[in-house]
Parts: sequence; structure tokens; C-alpha cells
Amino acid sequence: MSVAVDAERELLVEARRIAEQVAAPVADQVDRESRFPVEAVDALRAVGAMSAAVPEALGGGGVSLETIARCCLELARGCSSTAMVFAMHQIQVLTIARHLDGTGWYEGYLRDLSREQRLIASVTSEVGTGGDMARSIAAATPREDGELEFEKQAPTVSYGAYADDLLTTLRRAPDAEPGDQVLALTRSDQVTLEPAGVWDTLGMRGTCSPGFVVRARFAPEQVLPTPFAEVMNQSMVPLSHILWSHVWLGIATEAFERARAFVRASARQKPGEPPPAARRLSSVMADLTLLRGEVSQALGDFVAADDDVGRERLMTMASVLRFNNLKLAASEQAPLVCGGALEAVGILGYKNDTPYSVGRHLRDALSARLMVANERLLATDAALLLIAKEA
Ligand SMILES: Cc1cc2nc3c(=O)[nH]c(=O)nc-3n(C[C@H](O)[C@H](O)[C@H](O)COP(=O)(O)OP(=O)(O)OC[C@H]3O[C@@H](n4cnc5c(N)ncnc54)[C@H](O)[C@@H]3O)c2cc1C
Repeated sequence: MSVAVDAERELLVEARRIAEQVAAPVADQVDRESRFPVEAVDALRAVGAMSAAVPEALGGGGVSLETIARCCLELARGCSSTAMVFAMHQIQVLTIARHLDGTGWYEGYLRDLSREQRLIASVTSEVGTGGDMARSIAAATPREDGELEFEKQAPTVSYGAYADDLLTTLRRAPDAEPGDQVLALTRSDQVTLEPAGVWDTLGMRGTCSPGFVVRARFAPEQVLPTPFAEVMNQSMVPLSHILWSHVWLGIATEAFERARAFVRASARQKPGEPPPAARRLSSVMADLTLLRGEVSQALGDFVAADDDVGRERLMTMASVLRFNNLKLAASEQAPLVCGGALEAVGILGYKNDTPYSVGRHLRDALSARLMVANERLLATDAALLLIAKEA
């Protein structure tokens, strides 16, 4: 067996252990108190998971996207917020690693990240652009001393107060068009975060994602050279939709398993007589199967398209539609499974203090539709459908 296969397997085993033994026992508390899941994130750092996707040559684990995705699913079974923090961080790491283009500053940064297990948060959303990642108002602005600076009104920065670094979308320069964007990586000692509200939400409460006015001063080499339009289509959007969907699948899987445990316990009480909830559970299983199928198919499609020639395929309209469809389908299907699990269990699922509680899972899964509003994706898809040759 090769070392690489060992590393992949080891990470997955650790993710499962952390999900079950570290994240799950405090998941209700994290949710209730809307607090950062610090013990699970520390445990992930302790096994080197923050740099799992960094190439081995830069000190990372070099593990595949498939394994990272599987870890998102496993972590989400224990705690949705932990899994979403892990997923969002990996999206930033993978995005940087895929667009290094031989840039010394970013290579050095990934070495530091691997050594120090640094955590990256994302600042793409901006007040005034809604969920449109392809437009920015804040700009990388030259200073007299040769450095750059920006000020960005960010409505939602998950774990912003706990992150070591931020990856931020900006206009390339103060006179650039809203769509002429770049990505800039800034370290916490280069940034000030002025709180703009609190994070008291229906679900995903442990992601601790309030708004901030983000201000930063940084060196020009901290701007990723590849234009953001390319980074967005080849990496950030498809990877976001793939890893988020694995988190939502993990949440739905856990809700289903709780409902299954309830139905089995009911069956044991009256042997020989199938419990009435078994029929409902069967229909939930069909919904979960659809979700699982789409999530796994989309991951396979991305991996198939992601070679030197194929990366161009990720720039096509068909590719944009494909990974938007994943997000739309998974974000509708995951709450459906959680809601079905709730119906199968009944009041013991609705209560927050039973082994069959699925209220938290349902609330967490409902965030999926808003994590870039589905209505906005539908509007984008509607325009593309009229001109795309294939979908
Ligand atoms: C749990 C969670 C964590 C998040 N973490 C982060 C993070 O770390 N970093 C980050 O940058 N972002 C993050 N986001 C995303 C961010 O909060 C939102 O995507 C962003 O703020 C846009 O908010 P919105 O949905 O109100 O925007 P809009 O897209 O403006 O939507 C508002 C409403 O208007 C409708 N609408 C607006 N414009 C259109 C249009 N053109 N076509 C059709 N309908 C439209 C939408 O349907 C929606 O109902 C997170 C979101 C969630 C749920």
C-alpha cells in the first residue's frame, strides 16, 4: 500500500474519531450557545487536517478532494458547524493551491499554514452586491508606501474572529470595474475587524458568522495573480458547492440514522409488527438516496473534468450549470430528508433532549438555501440556459 493511500485513510479515520468523540458530544452546546467549536477545530489542527489538501512538496498532506469531501460528510454527522468550518477552510486552501502559478509568496504562505495549522476564513460576500460573488465594491487601493489597503463591508464572515487569515475578493484597483476582481490573502496582524452585528441565527450557529467592516494593509504580492473570474469558475464555486453539499449530506445522513434508530427501537417493543413510522422512513431513505447520488455524481464530474486539458471545461457554461445544479438540488434535498426524519420520529424528534432529536439538523440544513441564495442561482441559470449549447 502506498504512503499516499495510508495518509488518505488516516485522515478519514481521524475525521470520524473527531466527529464522534470530540464534536458530537458538544454539538448541542455549540448550537445553544452559538459558540465556535473550538475543541473540534483544535483536534483537527492536532492531526494536521488544516493542511491536508496542501501539496506534500509544500509541507501538506497532499490528500485528494475525494477524501476532503468524505471528511466533510463524516464531521457533519457529529457537528454541522465544525464540518462547515472545515469545508470553508479547505475551499480556501484548495483554491490557493490550484492557482499558485509559481508565486513565491503563496508557496511560502502554504508552508507556514502547514507548519502552524493556520485557519483561513472567506470574505466574498459584500453589502451592496448581495450574494453575487462575481462583483466587488471594495478595491485593492495603492498606498504611498507601496503597500495596498482595502475596507470591505462584509455581511457574513464565518469564524472571522477565530481565523488566522482572510481570503478576500476585491476590485483589482480603485478604477476597476465591479467584475474585474482579484483575491487577496491577509494575515490577522494585517487586519482589523470592526463588528457589524451579531450571529444569532436559526441554524449553523457554531460557525459564528456575523458581519464585520474588514480593513487591511498588505504587500502587493499577497494578491493572487490569476484573475478571479478564472479562479471562481475553475475552483472556488465548484469546490464550494461540492464541499458544502457533502456537509449537507452528512447532516441529512445523521438525521436519517436517528430516525432509523427510533424505528428500530419501536420495532423491538412490538416484535412481529412493523412500526407505522417504518413506511415514512422508507420514503426518507429514497430522498436520502437521491441526495447521495447527486453529491457523489457531481464530485465525480469535477474530478473527471479537472485535468490540464479539462480545466478549460470548468470554464464553460455547461460546467457552471452543472455545479449550480448540485447546489440547488442538495440544498433543497437535505432539509427534505431532515424534515422527513422529524415526521418519522414524531415528538421525540421535535424535542431537543432525546437520542432521536433532529431539530438542530433541520435548522442547520435550512441554511443551505441561503448560502448564496438559491433564487440568485436560479436567475443565473435561467440566463445561461437560453444560450448554453449543452447543460
Ligand atoms: C451559514 C452561512 C455562512 C456564511 N458564511 C459566509 C462567509 O464566511 N463568507 C462570505 O463571504 N459569505 C458567507 N455566507 C454567504 C452570505 O451570507 C450571503 O450569501 C450573502 O450575504 C448574500 O446574502 P443574501 O442571501 O441576503 O443576498 P441576496 O443574494 O441579495 O439575496 C437576498 C434576497 O433577494 C433575492 N435576490 C437578490 N438578488 C437576486 C437576483 N439577482 N436574482 C434573484 N434573486 C435575487 C434572493 O432570492 C434573496 O431572497 C454565509 C451564509 C450562510 C447562510
